[in-house]
Formats: sequence, structure tokens, C-alpha cells
Amino acid sequence: MRGWLAFAAQKLEELRTLRTAAGTVKREALLAPSRAIGAARRGSAHTNDEAVRERVAALTPADYARAEPFAARQAAQRARVTLPELPTTTIGSFPQTAEIRAARRARRDGELSEADYEAFLEREIEQAIRFQERLGLDLLVHGEPERNDMVEHFGEQLRGFAFSANGWVQSYGSRCVKPPILFGDVSRPQAMTVRWWRWAQSRTSKPVKGMLTGPVTILQWSFVRDDQPRRETATQIALAIQDEVRELEAEGAFAIQVDEAALREGLPLQAAARAEWVAWAIDAFRLTVAPARSETQVHTHMCYSEFGSIVDQIVRLDADVISIEASRSGMDVLDSFGGGVYPNEIGPGVYDIHAPRVPDADEIEALLAAAEARIGRERLWVNPDCGLKTRRWEEVEPALTALVEATRRRRAAAPAEAAVA
Ligand code: GLN
Ligand code: ZN
Repeated sequence: MRGWLAFAAQKLEELRTLRTAAGTVKREALLAPSRAIGAARRGSAHTNDEAVRERVAALTPADYARAEPFAARQAAQRARVTLPELPTTTIGSFPQTAEIRAARRARRDGELSEADYEAFLEREIEQAIRFQERLGLDLLVHGEPERNDMVEHFGEQLRGFAFSANGWVQSYGSRCVKPPILFGDVSRPQAMTVRWWRWAQSRTSKPVKGMLTGPVTILQWSFVRDDQPRRETATQIALAIQDEVRELEAEGAFAIQVDEAALREGLPLQAAARAEWVAWAIDAFRLTVAPARSETQVHTHMCYSEFGSIVDQIVRLDADVISIEASRSGMDVLDSFGGGVYPNEIGPGVYDIHAPRVPDADEIEALLAAAEARIGRERLWVNPDCGLKTRRWEEVEPALTALVEATRRRRAAAPAEAAVA
């Protein structure tokens, strides 16, 4: 596979080859080795999985839609699980403490046995569940202690991915990730998240969200093969994640979140290319969650707030609940979703998790009132802006305590009417 890859040094080499090739009659001879490698890749068993290709070829438009429209699904979900008005939840991860990172390292270095590592994760998850119950959150998460990164974690378990030792990419500030190398046809050999979801759900009578990364985000945050259209690759990933959706549902998960943190950033810069890209990106998400039954609540999460130009596409996602970044704009982002534009449920983030600053209940209460004024109380959720993995417990505990307190106050107050019905 090495010959298929080009990082910085190999790209310089390729530039030199092209420059030389441009000025010589021996062009064919110069380019022949690279053409041979390309042909070998196209014919390789690693890039061609017949079962995956047949599954993609058999897709029909019906495979891209839930069976019933949102209103019917919402009724089925409310009949299945009673959540309070203004339900509270979090986006998935809890602090990745030094202890968690040390355990992961010890396991990798063979100093911690698989059994001890798993027992450690079970304790972490149990603590996260107890914490959320103590605070009074409504829809719980397992906390993602087993995940290094939301894309790498899935790449490691899917077929068609490989990993580099040093292919680091900056995420933000001093945070870096090692994107997986998506080189072949993608499939899911076995369940990826079910074990930890099942353990978390066994520790509580409150519902625990299944937590997956969506196809567009996996595509955006990987080094992706260039021998077929990205759309094709996204469809393969969607089917692999769909298998996980089905299995979580079969295990009894009431809510399943499919994060599409990178959907917006994949939008091409060239205006002419946008419509097509957005159409298949949204289709990939729809395909991922389409088989979910009406009484299964599909969540999605996006960590940005510039929705203006793509709001109609976000509507087309048709997630039952979407959580978005909103606090830094003081809920202004909801102007794009109000006035009947966005019919489904929505959780505008009520505090910015990228800052160590801890919000108090007064300010969250004011943001909730502002959100209600824009879209009403009926379909509003209460949650932070994003996952909490970069924060410390000393910040998370008071912040979420304030979030729950502000929600209680709003529930006791008269609803603010939505500005436009
Ligand atoms: N579920 C992920 C988390 O909570 C989502 C992260 C993200 O949106 N970037 O960490
Ligand atoms: Zn996020």
C-alpha cells in the first residue's frame, strides 16, 4: 500500500517528476512507474470488495428515507419514552482525563491487559452515568472514554482503513489528530460501539444515547482514496455506519446520535460545485439512519452555526433532533431555523465548551428564553455546544449543574411564545 500514498516528501518527488516529464520526449517512460502503481491499486483486492459494491449498486431511493414523516415519528417516540419539557442532554464525550489517556497508553504498550482495560472503561462509564443521574440530566451518554478521536476510533474498526505512525494534522490550537487512511472499500466486520452502550444502559433506567460518527465527517477527517468519486466512498461509509445503527436499535437503544461535525466544512469553495456536494452529503446521512424505526430517536450534532445558506439541506437531513453551536451568537443562529423553516426538534448549545469559562444559571436561563422566543418551547432541547472531552471535571460539573438549574427555572416559568408560528 505504501506505493499508493504520497505525503510531503513523495509529493515533492512527484512535482519533480512532472517538471522533468513536461520537458522531455521520454515522458511515457518517466510516468510509467506511477501508472503501473495506479493500475495495481485499481486491481487490488484491497480496493475492491465485491460484497460492498453489490450493496451500493442495489440501493434505491427508498433506502434513503425513514419509513414515516417526522410528525408520526415524534408521536411514536413520545409514546415510547416520556421526557420532560425542555429535555436536557450532552453531546457525547466527558473529560478525557490524564488517567484515561494513561490507561489507553498502558494498554497499547502491553502494560495493561485487555481485561483490565475493559474493567477500567466500565468503571469510567459507570461514574459518568452516576454523575449525570446526580445532576438530573434526562437523556444520558456513556461519555466516550474508549475513544481517542471520533473518526480514528471508527476507522480503527472498519475495513478499508489503515493508520500512519506520524501523520498528524492540527485540529485546533494545540490539539492534533491522526487521520485514518481510507484506502479501500469500506465495511463493518463487527459491532463497534454496542458493547459500551449496552454496559452504560445496564447501569441506569434513563435512556442512554448511542453515539456514532457520520459518513461525511469520517470522509472529511480521513486521508481519502482518490481512485473513485468521494460520493461513492461516502456511500460505502454510510452503509457501514448504518449496520451499527441497526445493531444499536436491535439492542434496544431509544436514541442514536450520528455526529456530522464536519458537514459544513466539506462544502466546496466553488459555488458551482456546492449544490451537488451538499446533495450527496445529506443523502449519505439519510442513508445511514433510514432503517431506524419511527420510535427510535435519531439525533445529529454539528459544531458550528453558519447555517444560513444550507438550512434547507439541514431540513432535508430529517434528524429527529439536531444539536448545534449557538451560544456565541446569543441564539441568533436560530433565526435561520424559526418561522416554521425547521420543523424537527433542536438543541441550540447554551454554552461554549471551547472556553474554560463556566457559565452560571442566569445566563443559561436568558439564552433559553431567547431560544424559546425564536422557535417555541415545544421542540427545544437543552445541551452544551459540543462534547466535553477537552474540559476538566471541575469545569463540567458546575457548568452542567447550572444548565440543569436554568432548565428547571424555565420549566416553571410561563413559556415564551415563538415570534412566528
Ligand atoms: N460526540 C462527540 C463528542 O462529544 C462530538 C464531537 C464533535 O462534534 N466534534 O466529543
Ligand atoms: Zn461538536
